[in-house]
Amino acid sequence: MSSLQTSIAYLKGVGQARADLFAKELRIFTYADLLNFFPNRYIDRTQFFKIKQLQSNDSEVQIVGKITSFKTVQQKRGSRLIATFIDETGSIELVWFRGAKWIKDTLKVNIPYVIFGKVNSFKNSFSMPHPEMELVSQYKKNLRTAMQPIYPSTEKLNNKGLTNRVVQKIIQNLFTEINRKFEETLSNEIVNNLQLLGKSEAMFNIHFPKSQILLTQAKKRLKFEELFFIQLQLIRKKIIHKSKIRGYIFEKVGAHFNDFYKKHLPFDLTNAQKRVLREIRKDVANGAQMNRLLQGDVGSGKTIVAVLSILIALDNGFQAALIAPTEILATQHFNAINELLCELPITVKLLTGSSKKTERKIIHKALENGDLQILIGTHALLEDKVKFKNLGLSIIDEQHRFGVAQRSKMWLKSSPEEKVGGVFTPPHILVMTATPIPRTLAMSVYGDLDISVIDELPPGRKSIKTLHRYDKNRLGVFKFIRDEITKGRQIYIVYPLIQESEKMDYKDLMDGFESISREFPIPQYQISIVHGKMKSADKEYEMQRFIKRETQIMVATTVIEVGVNVPNASVMIIESAERFGLSQLHQLRGRVGRGSDQSYCILMSSFKLTEDAKTRLQTMVKTNDGFEIAEVDLKIRGPGNLMGTQQSGVLNLKIADIVKDASILKKARSVAIEVLQKDHNLSLPEHKNISDTYQKIIKNRGIWSNIS
Ligand code: ADP
Ligand code: MG
Repeated sequence: MSSLQTSIAYLKGVGQARADLFAKELRIFTYADLLNFFPNRYIDRTQFFKIKQLQSNDSEVQIVGKITSFKTVQQKRGSRLIATFIDETGSIELVWFRGAKWIKDTLKVNIPYVIFGKVNSFKNSFSMPHPEMELVSQYKKNLRTAMQPIYPSTEKLNNKGLTNRVVQKIIQNLFTEINRKFEETLSNEIVNNLQLLGKSEAMFNIHFPKSQILLTQAKKRLKFEELFFIQLQLIRKKIIHKSKIRGYIFEKVGAHFNDFYKKHLPFDLTNAQKRVLREIRKDVANGAQMNRLLQGDVGSGKTIVAVLSILIALDNGFQAALIAPTEILATQHFNAINELLCELPITVKLLTGSSKKTERKIIHKALENGDLQILIGTHALLEDKVKFKNLGLSIIDEQHRFGVAQRSKMWLKSSPEEKVGGVFTPPHILVMTATPIPRTLAMSVYGDLDISVIDELPPGRKSIKTLHRYDKNRLGVFKFIRDEITKGRQIYIVYPLIQESEKMDYKDLMDGFESISREFPIPQYQISIVHGKMKSADKEYEMQRFIKRETQIMVATTVIEVGVNVPNASVMIIESAERFGLSQLHQLRGRVGRGSDQSYCILMSSFKLTEDAKTRLQTMVKTNDGFEIAEVDLKIRGPGNLMGTQQSGVLNLKIADIVKDASILKKARSVAIEVLQKDHNLSLPEHKNISDTYQKIIKNRGIWSNIS
């Protein structure tokens, strides 16, 4: 048997020229690549249609019947042959534009045929151009694969003669060459328990299905296998991480935590917050480094969880850092945390790009000698000059705004002296995100992280009412704004700012600002404006005016998207809402609904909307649930455009689809966990197949190369 790593140039029917084409057009190099090049659809020749059942959208159908008559119709260019074809339910026309004479001579009238082709419909009558025809008597004799595979192709391949038929033949040759035999990759136990097809049978039936049922089973088996080995890698990575990367042990919950919890906590924690806190406490006490992702919808109260975790670090003699993606957000965290902790003997400082040099020096020094316990900041915190005495916990807010490189820099911030047993010890890491990640995606992308979810909003929140309005309703919207301002509420009006068309967006924003200024004139109304081109001091000034209620309206670009917390602001107007993605809309809406008043989100759009835009706006109107929204987003955009997927294998899947195959994914994950729980190193004889395959994957890095 040939090695599956053999170049396809050596395969019968291929040769160097075709091999080059395969490589260039489809990135197929080896036997293995070609075997894993799966058809994207099949023509089903197991089903027969009755003429009565035909519909205008039928693609390719197969019918049994007979020709009753022929006629030739003269046209400008040559002639056209038309045959009337009937079965017991009706009749259709068969049409030939070429070879009329020859066809007329070969086809027989009143003899049963199986015909196959694409159906066209015109005013309730159907026709089939250039059908494939076979006498029923012959059809019965012929051995065939019932389902014809159709492989993905490119124009170039077709032009160079690598048609579907040729590709099919080449793959047939390959199956012959390797004797149709594949090594089993899964254990007998898994194959039997899940009633999966064996590897060889699955491979054969994915290319040349003997029936619809076998095709379905083949797909299921191969999808399972693909997802199983991804999960196996992710979970193994997690196990190795836990056993190899030592972490500081925070053994006690001490004075800071208890004092704050008993005397200064401004509200009762929700059950979800308590649960997450327990998960974190367990993580930081077990001797391994915590590497946890905290997901919680906007407004679910992640900050207080961060604060309590920080207090545990402090109670154990460590420093803590909190980093946020924007200056506004970092400042807001600083103010909020300072206020929460003001009664405790704890020092907190803020470090951002606009911190003064003298202030920086003070901070650097206090960090190094340990006087400073909590540092909150932006990217400025990652600079090499910033050194901690003993950083025990790093929290990263809105982590999707940070690159992997920046995140990993946090790891190196721990002090050189404080090592556990002389081994490098990174701080515990907690990353927080308000962008809910669909469970299936989280399993695939963050399968190596521990995940906590705050799935409960603090009590007493009124759910935000979301409305969709068109430009022509603008006057009504202005009236609504005026009424809400009269009630003492504050309003956000947000304009899209999308990089490529920044100039135009900026103009939109300024035009909008002008017309709003006209509609809401001073001195009765005061308006703040915040956008990315402003100096951060000016931005901060305008934000503060809004926070202090000196202005009633905040006109802004998406800079306010993340984290901003002004509970009195209860109306969010989003202009050109059709231009925003779903997760961005959801983030923006999360700026309101933070106080006890009824809040509103109004999505303004033009009248003409694409189907996707309609779905997005309808979804927003229908639900406030971040996870539901994330699922819709995943369906619309596919995993390729969602955060984090670039680093994961989900984009490179050959056959599985993490959206459509969610249930197979869950099964694959639980089976992978079971296997590894029983056998960490895959050394049991019963796991030999799995272990061999796993080693090959690690070695070849073929389709799995994107798993880091
Ligand atoms: P996010 O998860 O979006 O970062 P925040 O931490 O900013 O949310 O919390 C949103 C608001 O909810 C804040 O004003 C916070 O004080 C408040 N909050 C958080 N937890 C609770 C709770 N358990 N009960 C009442 N209010 C809470
Ligand atoms: Mg937040």
